[in-house]
Amino acid sequence: MATFAQTVCVLVILAFAAGTSEAAMVQARDDKAAVNEKILLRDLSERARSWMEVRREKLWISCKPCDGKGTVVVPGPPGGFHKQQSKARETCKACSGEGRRFIEAEHRKAYFEFHTPEWQTSEGAFEAWQRSFRALRRQDSERVAPSSLLRRKVTLVDHSHGLTVIAEGKRGKEVEFEYRWVLRKQDGKTKWFLWKPSDGNWPDEQGQRDASESETESDAADEPDESDNAADSSTAREAILELEEEPRTALLAAAAAVEASWRVTAVGRVGRQLVVTLVLGDETLDPSDAKRLQRDSIAYVRALFGPEPTEPFEWDSIRLDFSGLWMDEYGNEELLPRWSVSIGTLEYRKVRWENERLDLAARWKHFTQRDREHADWTLIGDS
Ligand SMILES: [Zn+2]
Repeated sequence: MATFAQTVCVLVILAFAAGTSEAAMVQARDDKAAVNEKILLRDLSERARSWMEVRREKLWISCKPCDGKGTVVVPGPPGGFHKQQSKARETCKACSGEGRRFIEAEHRKAYFEFHTPEWQTSEGAFEAWQRSFRALRRQDSERVAPSSLLRRKVTLVDHSHGLTVIAEGKRGKEVEFEYRWVLRKQDGKTKWFLWKPSDGNWPDEQGQRDASESETESDAADEPDESDNAADSSTAREAILELEEEPRTALLAAAAAVEASWRVTAVGRVGRQLVVTLVLGDETLDPSDAKRLQRDSIAYVRALFGPEPTEPFEWDSIRLDFSGLWMDEYGNEELLPRWSVSIGTLEYRKVRWENERLDLAARWKHFTQRDREHADWTLIGDS
């Protein structure tokens, strides 16, 4: 790939050699830039595809000794008398009951080597990856190696930053995630790598808007397109994954310090979204008080996100689930989300929260609130 300097050089030579006017030179530069962008987009698209392939196909195998069940039949002592006992099952030692084994080399490819060369060689990066690999459990399979991965969008932000949107998860229940990529050189080759905050600032949204006309593509040709179902998954029961001890404790402590009517009972994540569960602390309060919900949302988001959302969280957005009491057709009662309030990291960073002239309405404008529904459950009261 030609560097910017090379590109300019070629253009200048071309322009002078042909003795063209300035207008023609501008035209030539535009043409060249368009070609360059096409190449960048194509490379990004291919790179995203190969990342998806590693994740989809190769990250884990079923445990052979237990046939993926996690337990094995314990052979009892010989003799008919112990026949009953011989059917007992015990945890498979080969996989510690997980039923599957993650492949270290493939996980390393997907979650270490796809990051920038700078990050890979940075202090503690390899150890951090090793820890994340060792902590993998069966329930993480859908996150690290989703059964379905559909590429929805490939976009250039500028000539060294790009975005891909990938719908991933259980087939028919995919959720869309946005991934950021940067262009870097490795072993003399320029390639796209997954971006981390330590790789430097992400260009502001102006750049994204400029590039938003670029190519949109879908894997509809080789995968059944389940876009309707993917959008639908917000109403399905989603898996909120546990955070690791360290961010969880810190986030709960930050939440506990906030003066609010709604109380945080849990923090977790869905992909790169931080999910916070809240219940109303005082039964005498009206849960439908919109102003209170707005004030509390703002207070919690500020406390949890801090001045700058950084590693190891790397959230793309934060979501507050305000609970209500629901009942199913069998009479079971459960606290489930009634409203979800969310804000993206980019938006959050842009707002000057400390500016006192920003009133509640001006702050609230940056949040999205939606009513939640749960199939077969009826709202019966407020938490
Ligand atoms: Zn096993």
